[in-house]
Amino acid sequence: MLALPLSWPLENRQVVLIGAGAWATRKLTLLRRTPATLHLFAPLADLADALPRWPQPAELADAALIIVAFEDRAMAEKGAALARTSRAPLNVVDFPDLSDFHVPAIIDRGSLSIGVATGGTAPVLARETRRKIEAAVPPSETHVAAFATALSPRLREIFPNTDDRRRVWETLLQSPAAEVARTGRIDEALALALSHIDAPRTGVVHLVGAGPGDPELLTLKALRLLSEADVIVYDRLVGDGIMDLARRDADRFYVGKERSNHSVPQAQIHELLVEQARLGKRVVRLKGGDPFVFGRGGEEVEALRQAGIDVHITPGVTAALGCAASAAVPLTHRDHAQSVTFITGHAKDGDSENNPLMLDWSALSAPHHTLVVYMGVATAKIISDKLMSHGRMPDTPVLVIENGTRRNERRMQVSLCTLADALHATPPEGPALVIIGEVAGLYQDTAAAVITETLRINA
Ligand code: SAH
Repeated sequence: MLALPLSWPLENRQVVLIGAGAWATRKLTLLRRTPATLHLFAPLADLADALPRWPQPAELADAALIIVAFEDRAMAEKGAALARTSRAPLNVVDFPDLSDFHVPAIIDRGSLSIGVATGGTAPVLARETRRKIEAAVPPSETHVAAFATALSPRLREIFPNTDDRRRVWETLLQSPAAEVARTGRIDEALALALSHIDAPRTGVVHLVGAGPGDPELLTLKALRLLSEADVIVYDRLVGDGIMDLARRDADRFYVGKERSNHSVPQAQIHELLVEQARLGKRVVRLKGGDPFVFGRGGEEVEALRQAGIDVHITPGVTAALGCAASAAVPLTHRDHAQSVTFITGHAKDGDSENNPLMLDWSALSAPHHTLVVYMGVATAKIISDKLMSHGRMPDTPVLVIENGTRRNERRMQVSLCTLADALHATPPEGPALVIIGEVAGLYQDTAAAVITETLRINA
């Protein structure tokens, strides 16, 4: 960029034009479209309404801008020298070397003005470009601009926060009010817009899947909702770096949840969501993975519906899919597994010893079937025993993935009969997923290659 096309408000400002002939007339026409107070000097006495002489330095002192417009270079230089007695920025028409600033090619749509600048190097290109923009921004935009200008102070009052205001503008400019304005019925458009704005805002809750950890696995929709949220309620499973993508001035509530250490009980989370939505906020309940896969999203939907609050779901990449992709282990494979089941190793009251997992173990123990266990570290022994006693082979490959898709991802390839001991020996610290089945034997890792060899089953 050779030049910065700035915009210079001219309300209550003085602009001095010193010039002669067609060039001066053209500038005058432009300046008369601005609200500036004009002081005109025409040393050749050829300009109506102008003083027929050069200005005195004192007459330039308060100028916000000075424009000198003579075809004759000597005259232009004389005007420029006079203008230099003032500190006002100077434009000498068609003599960029004498100027502080250039005037871009302008598309005038009332309070919306568009400038096309080339740093004075290619005015014809600037005019060509202006022609294209003229076509793209129809004259009716003048009315929309007038509508926006009239509405602006009121919106500032109602929405002191810049982000809130920006969002309201984004909606308003797409609204029927803007359409009415476009036809020139500005007052009607304003009334319509204000009736819209003054209506009390109703809150909404979005249950949003944050994916397994890698921020790049967020959906575009999740990203948008995060950038628009007033309130974000998130927990431990939301990966590092994801909250960095959220709107900076959103209120954040950490409801931390860890296995058998629910820092905020589910009922309180429900209350928080309801309370914030009732304040008219756009609430994002951000949940690790997918909200509807072992995420208690279903309970949150019920609670919100009961409270009469609008709730929407944005899916996320669930841990099973994220971890499988990260380890390059297919969950189904024509040769190794024709089905896959996601189970939770966590019983509802958290006490799996006395409240054994209510699962159809015979079905889960079938060969050529992949079992993905969420929250299964604590109950790995129960699960592996159950599977083996229902016929799953002890040497069935198992892949444990901790912190899947995150920078600190760790993988451990074992077999069904060694799973519990391996987890006992090196207990995962982060969230961990257990993939059980023939497909886990497809995992390749140079460090684990030896173990892989010894465990690989004979297909
Ligand atoms: N709704 C989430 C699951 C919540 S249950 C989802 O769809 O992924 C929590 C369990 O998910 C953890 O105990 C762990 O088993 C699994 N999990 C979540 N994120 C994980 C990750 N990044 N790596 C490994 N396992 C993960």
